[in-house]
Amino acid sequence: MTPADGEPTEFRATGLNHVSPAIQLNLNLRSLGLSATLEINERSAALAAEGRKIYKLGLGQSPFPVPDQLQRALQDNAHQKDYLAVQGLPALRQSICDYLKRTQDLDFDPEDILIGPGSKELMFLIQMAYYGDLVIPRPSWVSYAPQAQIIGRPVTWLETDPNEALGVTADRLRALCATDPERPRLLILNSPGNPTGFGYSPEALSEIAEVAQEYRLLLLSDEIYGGVQFDGKHQSMARYYRGGTIISDGISKWAGSGGWRLGFFAFPKSLAWLRKAMSAAASETYTSVSAPIQHAAIPAFEGGAQMELYLHRSRAILGALADHVSSRLTQAGAKLNPIRGGFYAFPVFDALRDQLAARGITTSAQLTRQLLEDTGVATLPGSCFGRPDTELSLRLAYVDFNGAAALDALQAGEDLDAAFLTRHCNRVVEGIEAMARWVEA
Ligand code: GLU
Repeated sequence: MTPADGEPTEFRATGLNHVSPAIQLNLNLRSLGLSATLEINERSAALAAEGRKIYKLGLGQSPFPVPDQLQRALQDNAHQKDYLAVQGLPALRQSICDYLKRTQDLDFDPEDILIGPGSKELMFLIQMAYYGDLVIPRPSWVSYAPQAQIIGRPVTWLETDPNEALGVTADRLRALCATDPERPRLLILNSPGNPTGFGYSPEALSEIAEVAQEYRLLLLSDEIYGGVQFDGKHQSMARYYRGGTIISDGISKWAGSGGWRLGFFAFPKSLAWLRKAMSAAASETYTSVSAPIQHAAIPAFEGGAQMELYLHRSRAILGALADHVSSRLTQAGAKLNPIRGGFYAFPVFDALRDQLAARGITTSAQLTRQLLEDTGVATLPGSCFGRPDTELSLRLAYVDFNGAAALDALQAGEDLDAAFLTRHCNRVVEGIEAMARWVEA
């Protein structure tokens, strides 16, 4: 067996002459580095600490503050000291059922909900608890595939087309499933999506649901950006494929609380066995999510006028930024799909291939490395999302601004125009301008 780089020899396994499945898992893990999103965040912070001006468009975290009512609830619940039920605080699970009823007209009982320390951990647990292949489109969020890799689960990448906004289509999914119709599969669908910001139309969801039904796919619907779909009309996949869809959501992206680490899965009754298996794994690993955080998350799901206003303003600001980013980068020669929600854009600079090649840039990794070096704009290469190495694509998160100040300005009645973005989202505007000029050079 080969030790990982830097592994001290005194811990090196000797006398192991075959690689058992458990050892294979160890080896899978050792070949991975830090997740790309977190690595770029730490690198950006380190460069900024050295005195460089960095535009932090790498990690996708909400620019907006934790809503006041959540902050107050956290203060009021600081004394909560007991371990909570593995599946989560009953009152929080009830508030999530109310939220899913109110926003999606879907009926769930508290027993159908599993709370996790971020939906990311639950995504890992589902891959441990389910036996199917993981099916994800190119591009997909950076962690789905590495999670499968850690566990040793096969990943099938579903090819996509820039003319179909790089999303899943029913036809392509059907063609994939037809190659081996009986094979168990777990499809992850993310809408609005990371990294493209693309959102599926109700018609597209219903066509995909038909294929999922036909091939009995398990569908994990990652709806973490649903609350920041700009038109406020996010539709859950569970409305179309109720019996086979697990909804994944949380407070990280639409309630400014990524660092609070609170997510949930909502299961249909038919998948209670999977919820139980995941709860068993949860009970043996993280036990239950932090008690004060669970109490404090309730107002996010209860909604109300204040929360609605917060969401409405957040969506308006993000939507205006998405328009700005798209039009400036399109003008610079990039191809982008229409952005419906979230806080990402995925420009592809293939039309500028010759100019960039003349500067020694022929891969997305070179593109983002050189961009950071020359301009201080931190982004992630398209290859991290499963795109071919030589596609000149990158993901940027237009979040480097003071969201609290921007919300206050909107509340004070300022118009949400170009001058607003320059005033309140200046680092994003400057970073995009620097990127555009750099590719145009
Ligand atoms: N989902 C965020 C992103 O794609 C970061 C959170 C994470 O990776 O844990 O940038």
